[in-house]
This record gives sequence, C-alpha cells and structure tokens, in this order.
Amino acid sequence: MVELRELDDATMGQSFAGDVYNSAVYMKRCFPKITVSMITAIGRDRLSEKMLTRFKSEDLETQFVFQHPSKVPGMYFIETDSAGERRFTYWRNDSAAKKVVQFLNDDVVEQLTAADMFFFSGIPLAIIDEDSRDAFWQKLERLKLAGVKLVFDPNYRAQLWAGKDEAIAQFDRAFQLSDIAMPGVEDLNVLYGISSAEEAIDFCQQYKLEEVVVKDGPKSVVTLTGTERHSHQITPVNNVVDTTSAGDAFNGVYLGARLSGKNVFEAVQLGAKAAGTVIQHPGAIAPLAAFKQAMSEAGL
Ligand code: ADP
Repeated sequence: MVELRELDDATMGQSFAGDVYNSAVYMKRCFPKITVSMITAIGRDRLSEKMLTRFKSEDLETQFVFQHPSKVPGMYFIETDSAGERRFTYWRNDSAAKKVVQFLNDDVVEQLTAADMFFFSGIPLAIIDEDSRDAFWQKLERLKLAGVKLVFDPNYRAQLWAGKDEAIAQFDRAFQLSDIAMPGVEDLNVLYGISSAEEAIDFCQQYKLEEVVVKDGPKSVVTLTGTERHSHQITPVNNVVDTTSAGDAFNGVYLGARLSGKNVFEAVQLGAKAAGTVIQHPGAIAPLAAFKQAMSEAGL
C-alpha cells in the first residue's frame, strides 16, 4: 500500500508498506541468498511504478507483481497523536490488490509450485474479492499438494471483515491448510477470547500444523514443533517509537532463518532482534544501515 504520514502542517511524507511486503523486505535484508518474490496486483499509474521500483530496490522478485489496467494501489494515512497513539485512515476498497487472484492463472500457479514456502496473512485474505475466495483456496491446495509449505499469520483487522463470523470461517480454512501458523495473541483474543500464548498454542493444536509460533509482544514467544513446546524470553525494548510491523519483521526474519537451516531457538532470537530494532524507528520499514547493524550484532 501507499503510506502517507504528516511531516508538518503542509507536507506529507510518502512511502510503501503492507504486512506481507514488510516481512518480505526483512527476510531479504537478513537472508540475501533466499529468492523472495512479492505476489500482488498494482496499477499502471505513477505511484504503482514507484512501488514496483521500490520492490526491486529491496531486491524482491517482481515477476508476480501484476499491473491491473484500471485499478490503483490502496493507500493509508497514519497519524500519531501526542500520546503516541496511532490512527489509520484507509482508502483501499477499490484497490488493485483486491483483484490479485484473477492474475493467478494455471501457468502462474505452476511456477509458484517451485517455491519452498508461500506466506499469506489475514489481510490479503480479507481484501481479495469475496467471489474469488474459493479460487484462492483451490490454488493454495495445489501449492500444498506440490510440497510448498504454507505459512499463515491471521493479522486480524476488524474493519476489513463484514463480521467476526466471516473472519473465523476463513481463518479456520487457513489454519486447516497451513503447515506453519504465526499468530499474535492479541489477534486471537478478539476473535476467540484467547488471552495467553499457552492458550493460543492449545487452540492451534486442533489443526495439523507442523510448527506454531505465537507472538505475545514483549512478554514471550511460544513455539510448538511436533509435540515440543517452548517459551522463549524476549528482551523488552525501552525506547519504543512505533510498533508498526513488529510482527511482520519477526515473521520475515524467523522464516528466513528457518529456511536457512537455523533451529527454532535461533530463529526466534533473530526474529525478536529484528522486531525489537524495527520498533525503535518510525514507520514500517526501518532504515537499512541501522537495521543491518543491529542484525550483525545478533550474529548475522
Ligand atoms: P504483532 O505486531 O503481530 O501484534 P507483537 O506485538 O506480538 O506482534 O510483536 C511481534 C514481536 O515484536 C514480538 O514477538 C517481539 O519479538 C517484538 N516486540 C514487540 N513489542 C516489543 C517490545 N516492547 N520490546 C521488545 N520486543 C518487542
């Protein structure tokens, strides 16, 4: 999405963000050997072209970034009040990204079967046109059958769904089909009344997930691999500036670490270091130099 942020009374700063994109950026920054492809739809307007250029400048592959002939990207305006509370205003109801499924033809899906992993979240799930949901699930089933690991983060955003029941039904399909789930406790709390990482793990055990990673802010990360459950300590950050994309950074770096052969303990520590760094900078994407410096201190 296009991100707008007020710099002063007369000036807006403009950047690009979105949960899946944020994760892709942080995965690629930490694990440059991994080929990371964005799958989305943008337009043919000037901002879309800039977005495409940005994807490329972050070394993301763009052959699955489709350009819709008439739609434009979604946009949001982020305001931070004097108490640090964030407020978002969205223009996304007619975005190009809602149409992405129509571009995922058999040929594209066939190419995607060559991937090791496919990551999706509750946000794209919420925004794709309702009448393309069945097609989306069929395509994911094909990827799974081909051995692509499916990874799901619910990232629940109430305003994107017609109601809780609709989100719960779609999330149920996502959890059923996925191999790895990476929920945050807060998201599950609103939908299922879950109030701790342990409860979140219990909830996930009803599905056939091979790996579950539950994020609970600065409190802990709890993982379940097979029958092994571990609570990992997080070092709290004191000077939190902006928590936008903490979970996304965690996801990207955790998954990059796992794809690079690191164990769950190492992957959690690297993911947490990335998230803890990102929240010390405003916006979704932290400056490259500061981010790389922090990750090299963590051993990357
Ligand atoms: P989400 O952004 O999905 O809501 P969380 O709030 O649980 O997810 O945060 C994601 C990750 O960010 C956590 O697992 C943790 O590693 C890190 N994190 C969040 N808040 C803090 C904090 N105050 N101090 C250190 N790390 C944090």
